[in-house]
Amino acid sequence: MNILLTGGAGYIGSHTAIALAESGHSVFAADNFSNSSPEAIRRVSELSGQRISCFDMDIRNTPMLADILLRKEIQCVIHFAGYKAVGESLTKPLLYYDNNIATTVSLLAAMEEAGVSRLIFSSSASVYGEDAPSPISEEAGIGGCTNPYSRTKAICEQIIQDAAASSPVGLQAVLLRYFNPIGAHPSGMIGENPHGIPNNLMPYITQVAAGILPELTIFGGDYDTPDGTCLRDFIHVMDLAEAHAQAVEYLSRAASSNTDVPTVVPINIGTGTPYSVLDVVKTFSDVNGFPIPYHIGARRDGDIPALYADVSRAEQLLHWHATRSLADMCRDAWTWQRKNPEGYWLR
Ligand code: NAD
Ligand code: UDP
Repeated sequence: MNILLTGGAGYIGSHTAIALAESGHSVFAADNFSNSSPEAIRRVSELSGQRISCFDMDIRNTPMLADILLRKEIQCVIHFAGYKAVGESLTKPLLYYDNNIATTVSLLAAMEEAGVSRLIFSSSASVYGEDAPSPISEEAGIGGCTNPYSRTKAICEQIIQDAAASSPVGLQAVLLRYFNPIGAHPSGMIGENPHGIPNNLMPYITQVAAGILPELTIFGGDYDTPDGTCLRDFIHVMDLAEAHAQAVEYLSRAASSNTDVPTVVPINIGTGTPYSVLDVVKTFSDVNGFPIPYHIGARRDGDIPALYADVSRAEQLLHWHATRSLADMCRDAWTWQRKNPEGYWLR
């Protein structure tokens, strides 16, 4: 199948491109490189053995997008493009509402124009309200979000629901609610490429490991959890990438099914197993053979004590579950950092 990845040069898009190429799909990307480098696409082409075309464009350019969908005979789109920094979304909410929502509206309009009916959307576990108890199922309410970034995801989910309900092309969508993707392709050729000081746990740890940052601050050691630090559902980015390939298969089955299938399906993508922040630090040290200096600091505003997935729907509908361990995640994250101390060559 011909598949377009918006934001395909980014962290999750680049790993997904490899999983899709390995499943025999023809992969195209569209990215404005606002948070990525063309070097990622070059390396994905090298790793996958498929020359990936990447259109240097803003997804808000609807006519150009519709033209690409038609010319490349795209049958399915995976929409990764958007901004993702929670903290920045609090200081620049309009930037986030503009980019995350306008790209989604533009994409839906272009798909309608070009007659493309299959969509996979990068959503987030952060659409669930603060008070939802873990393990969280997709039946839990969404929208009680603590920051503008998460609200853009909840709003986009609603926009996709509304577009599907009135779609002239029979839009079918899967909303993948990612938990905490970490790690990298085991080759260490592609990985997460944060600008400046990382906000997220694993890139912070790898930069401490590399000596770029002096020590990790663990945000809060007095939560009501087994070791006092927060619990999260960390998932290897290659497991996450493979979930997208399974979602493409799911949409194909849905299109050829005689029975009624829902037009828009939210699906949690995690391992279902919670690990604490301290578990991650200790596993990283054990698997890579050196300590990570850390201290316990104050809680970070907005952090939920425990957030992990009920993954039964992913198993049932996608025939998928995560197979890689926390040790795999920690080893592969360090391989990427070690081989690419400055990330990609940013242009
Ligand atoms: P990323 O920043 O690495 O990738 C996003 C890509 O989109 C980048 O290459 C960026 O250049 C591109 N982009 C942004 N705005 C664009 C625009 N207007 N036009 C064209 N390209 C544009 O982020 P990621 O970690 O790969 O995340 C991918 C998606 O998954 C995002 O939508 C993110 O919100 C979502 N998500 C990520 C995580 C996570 O922890 N990484 C968790 C939940 C959800
Ligand atoms: N965290 C931490 N120190 C850091 C970064 C993150 O202790 O420098 C903790 C954070 O408080 C949370 C967990 O690690 O409990 C995961 O945070 P991250 O920002 O990676 O993802 P989130 O779950 O917030 O989306």
